[in-house]
Amino acid sequence: MPADPAAPRHDGHEEHEEPAARPAHPARRDLLRTGLATGAATALGLAAATGPAAAAPNQADQTLTLTGHLPTGSPDFVYLPVEVPDGVREIAVSYSYDKPQVPAGTPGNSCDIGIFDERGTDLGGDGFRGWSGGFRTEFAIARDTATPGYLPGPVNPGTWHIALGPYQVAPQGLDYHVQVTLRFGAPGAEFTPHYPPERARGRGRDWYRGDCHLHTVHSDGRRLPEEVAAGARAAGLDFIVSTDHNTSSSHAVWGPLAGPDLLILPGEEITTRNGHWLALGLEAGRFVDWRYRSRDEEYPRFVRQVHRSGGLVVPAHPYCPYVACQWKFGYEQADAVEVWNGPWTYDDESAVDTWDSRLAVALRGGRSWLPAMGNSDAHSAPQVIGLPHNVVLAEDLTRDAVLDGLRAGRSWLAESVTVRLDFTVTGNGRRAGIGEELTVPADAPLDVRLTVSGVPGGTVRFLTDEGQMHQESLPADGSGTVVWRTTASLAAYVRAEVRHPKADGTPGKGNSMGEDLPWGPMAALTNPIVLRVDER
Ligand SMILES: [Zn+2]
Ligand SMILES: [Zn+2]
Repeated sequence: MPADPAAPRHDGHEEHEEPAARPAHPARRDLLRTGLATGAATALGLAAATGPAAAAPNQADQTLTLTGHLPTGSPDFVYLPVEVPDGVREIAVSYSYDKPQVPAGTPGNSCDIGIFDERGTDLGGDGFRGWSGGFRTEFAIARDTATPGYLPGPVNPGTWHIALGPYQVAPQGLDYHVQVTLRFGAPGAEFTPHYPPERARGRGRDWYRGDCHLHTVHSDGRRLPEEVAAGARAAGLDFIVSTDHNTSSSHAVWGPLAGPDLLILPGEEITTRNGHWLALGLEAGRFVDWRYRSRDEEYPRFVRQVHRSGGLVVPAHPYCPYVACQWKFGYEQADAVEVWNGPWTYDDESAVDTWDSRLAVALRGGRSWLPAMGNSDAHSAPQVIGLPHNVVLAEDLTRDAVLDGLRAGRSWLAESVTVRLDFTVTGNGRRAGIGEELTVPADAPLDVRLTVSGVPGGTVRFLTDEGQMHQESLPADGSGTVVWRTTASLAAYVRAEVRHPKADGTPGKGNSMGEDLPWGPMAALTNPIVLRVDER
């Protein structure tokens, strides 16, 4: 969406024109000139109409109505101040906006919503109290409870802000209508979060299966957290990461749903206007801000925040074609990249190609390479939890061990628990597995060996920095071992893919070109085994 604040035009329905804009984040100065001023004036008008509130235990509810018009080119976020007096037990908000007819191919109106409390709207600040994107038309917050996506807690007096995110604005502009009801009375009991434990009953050093991108009703999923936990167990997973969009509210509910058999890690999917990223293994209750674009240069600060807490930064579905979903922040600060998101589609092919091309570059510079990940991004039935997931070699089933394994790329991506594989390179008396390095004399013969099961009629591909070097079909029962020989002088790395047959039943076309996609869907993909020449 173009966001040119050069000539803001606001014709909200406010009667008073005194902007009550408070200092906001410097990178958001445009908001002061546009959104904040409009919203502030609107709220002031209403405050004048309704009169100052006094604290009284049985005071009647107060309802404020905030309306305004956002033209094309409005800021990414518009903040509407709401004065919350003493004695408010609950804030309830509902909103709507117009959806005028637009020409075919032009985005219509689409507006997200959330709320910040009296601590303010600063980027990365403490005032965040919840976000429901475009999923809900109403929400409420009290001390003891809140709508999923929102954080229960004190309803302190002061200036709160409704945050609107008009991420698509029709050529006619967007007319919003927000209703805020302040309910007075004694506050509820203090909210007790139930965070999940950081370890489950593991099997020691072993391969553990986990889906690290899952949504619930705490963002735009329709599954309850208990349904996600049940789905993970049904899929044969050992761990999951909870990644609702732009909120930490679900962290507090996973405790009773984790167990000795299922590790649940808090996370978040940060949905910026320039792509989505996963923060995996966050400190429980920790919120990561999403209100920036690539050009704002705020992203590195939030990467540091996640790294400080020991978590991983993972760009998600980098080629997803939806508005604002394509990844524009680069990969330099990432710990891994999600190359496979949900059922296999062409954008996943693009992500694998980009990832692969970066492997050789990283190895040439002696830098660490970026591991690949695969996650379901499942929101609601019938999306399948665990399709795909990561199979990671970890010292135990704990937060730190699983994150270490993913960070090191000691992992492969599986379509489901029925796909099993083992991938090694042996030579010169040594052996290396997925994500490991083998340093050997340049011409020492190396045997690349993949043993796989669970992919009937599948095709095994071995790829190096030269591209596909070997292709072999599996028998009808989907099990087999494929061996191919190379040297460290010929290959800087080797990785494996297992593909299903194409829709017409044929295997892929290997090193050929044609009009259709060359391969059937991915069934399994490994991270590389790195081959280094021993220079001594
Ligand atoms: Zn996403
Ligand atoms: Zn997602």
